[in-house]
Amino acid sequence: MAKIRVLSQAVADKIAAGEVAERPSAVVKELVENSIDAGADRITVEIKKGGIAYISVEDNGKGIPFDEVEFAFVRHATSKLREIDDLFEIETMGFRGEALASICAVSDVEVITREKDALEGAHVTVNHGVVSQKETIACNAGTVMIVENLFSSVPARMKFLKKDSTEAGYVADVLSRIALSKPQIAFRYICDGKEQFSTSGDGSLKNAILNIYGIDHAKGVLEVLHTEHGVTVSGVVGKSELSRGNRARQTLFVNGRYIKNHVVSKIVEEAYRNVLMTGKFPFFVLNIQLAPGLVDVNVHPAKTEIKFANEKEIYDIVYHAVKNAIYKRPELPVYEPAVGAKPASVAKEGVAERPPVTCSDAKRPEAVDRKTVAEFMEKTVPQTVGGAFREPQRENPFARKTNEPTFASPKGGEAVPFDFDTEEKADTVLLARKKAAPDENKAEETPLFDLGEGAEKAPILVVGQVFGTYVIAQQGDSMFLIDQHAAHERKRFEMLKKDYEQRGVSGQILLSPIVLEVDGSELQTVKENRETLETLGFEMEEFGRNSVIIRQTPFVSDEEDIKSLALEVIAILAEGRPSGLLSFEERILDTISCKYAIKANKKLSPLEMEVLLKDVEELENSGITTCPHGRPIRIEFTKREIEKMFKRIV
Ligand code: ADP
Ligand code: MG
Repeated sequence: MAKIRVLSQAVADKIAAGEVAERPSAVVKELVENSIDAGADRITVEIKKGGIAYISVEDNGKGIPFDEVEFAFVRHATSKLREIDDLFEIETMGFRGEALASICAVSDVEVITREKDALEGAHVTVNHGVVSQKETIACNAGTVMIVENLFSSVPARMKFLKKDSTEAGYVADVLSRIALSKPQIAFRYICDGKEQFSTSGDGSLKNAILNIYGIDHAKGVLEVLHTEHGVTVSGVVGKSELSRGNRARQTLFVNGRYIKNHVVSKIVEEAYRNVLMTGKFPFFVLNIQLAPGLVDVNVHPAKTEIKFANEKEIYDIVYHAVKNAIYKRPELPVYEPAVGAKPASVAKEGVAERPPVTCSDAKRPEAVDRKTVAEFMEKTVPQTVGGAFREPQRENPFARKTNEPTFASPKGGEAVPFDFDTEEKADTVLLARKKAAPDENKAEETPLFDLGEGAEKAPILVVGQVFGTYVIAQQGDSMFLIDQHAAHERKRFEMLKKDYEQRGVSGQILLSPIVLEVDGSELQTVKENRETLETLGFEMEEFGRNSVIIRQTPFVSDEEDIKSLALEVIAILAEGRPSGLLSFEERILDTISCKYAIKANKKLSPLEMEVLLKDVEELENSGITTCPHGRPIRIEFTKREIEKMFKRIV
């Protein structure tokens, strides 16, 4: 086996130094990655008090040779990397030889380890960086690392830690993502004596999803497998019902390593365009497999951020991979860009658009239009979901064999014209605008129905409905188009806001309570926000390991609606920040009103339209002419304007 050795100074200097042990979850990540690198197929993680008091990671990996155990705690001591060139060919998780040194500098560490063939193992204790004890011990083959009293000697760091329960949530999050990246390894996570989840390690991503997120998720995923230009994108994307109000359930791996990359998230979302509502983010677990030399993993000390050597090309491939998976699903609306049009985010000069392809449709007819592609796929491609997560690492036909990159960039490696901050920027701009020009906003709110001082208002008459979405009304010399959803949403919002401010939203008790599957951090959010939830009209409480039970909601609706509303509200509570024009509480109230408001594409009866117009009038009388996000509720066309359009007058 490879020996542990100290890296040369030159190599050490080239490696960007970074703090590894910033919080318990980071420690767990490093320890678990070491276990994976040691070839373990069973890893048990146990923490107490958010990991601050106690973390133990036990594996059945290859163990550490008796004579080398203390070297593992020396900075830049690693058995995984020797020359700087290796940095770009890394296939192991760790490579800096930094983690254990950083961890043991700020905690008490105990390691019990035995190589498979060794007769006895080693038991070494390290107190704040100093080896204080080493003895032989009879133990299982593999390694147990126990980290206690994290940061007890670094009070400044302690201050940055959140509540134990929050830290435990972070640990669950990190571990669940690692477990998803390695379905062939059986993971077990125990927090304060209670098992939180365990995966079977049978190699199936779908089963890992089942073990971690529950049956709804295992059933609600579509398989992704797409290879292009030596890059393979595999994993699953969720059907629309698994989408959430934030990106917490999006997991991306690059060569099996968990990565944060907003651009990839945006690209996936782009592929979902016209399938998901705005503000909804798809569930996905995706792995991008490519030659290690095409990725620079050294950008971020925690190795969670990377740079692709040829970003544009890779984003394009991800886009096609996800689009293909969505196309295979007949009940989803098919995305049909205009002929020759490309999504703005991945538009690229000089490269012909590829029609959706899958690995198995080599015989696909050359010229088929998009609708028939979808139909074709439906008939020819088996509708499998989940299945084994491809790990092409070992016999990866795309792995780089020479020093040449496996694909050439058609236009060089210029940056993708994609602004992944758009939403955040938009929010900031809106807020800034609101603050800077309050009068301007007031002006917008001047009722348009005003017929002048003392004038009798003419009655509003319903004319009809178009596109199942807009109500046409007439009043005096004006015609109005009213957005039924915007109007109703605003009405509900105002009602809820009034209730909330006065005595809290009074919820309605559900005849049969609904059980909602949640993950560790969502459960935590529910526990921590019980009172807030009650003032919002929800009664929710913990129900078993991975669920909450919903007994009361602001409105009665069908189960799916209630579930998705509850998840959205939990996500906003977890995030806890305002958005755009709305304060944090308003955001939640708006989410509730949006859910229960009349949707677009719903035919209304004449009576319903009358009621809606009454609501609009009431809103107008209090100076409200927009939905909570600032979109207009109605648009006016005066008789004069219409006459001008028809050139009756000039
Ligand atoms: P790195 O993972 O970057 O090599 P670490 O500080 O995390 O650096 O670990 C140092 C060395 O300790 C590793 O290279 C490995 O040889 C050894 N080691 C750590 N944890 C384990 C484990 N669970 N099983 C076997 N060897 C381990
Ligand atoms: Mg390591």
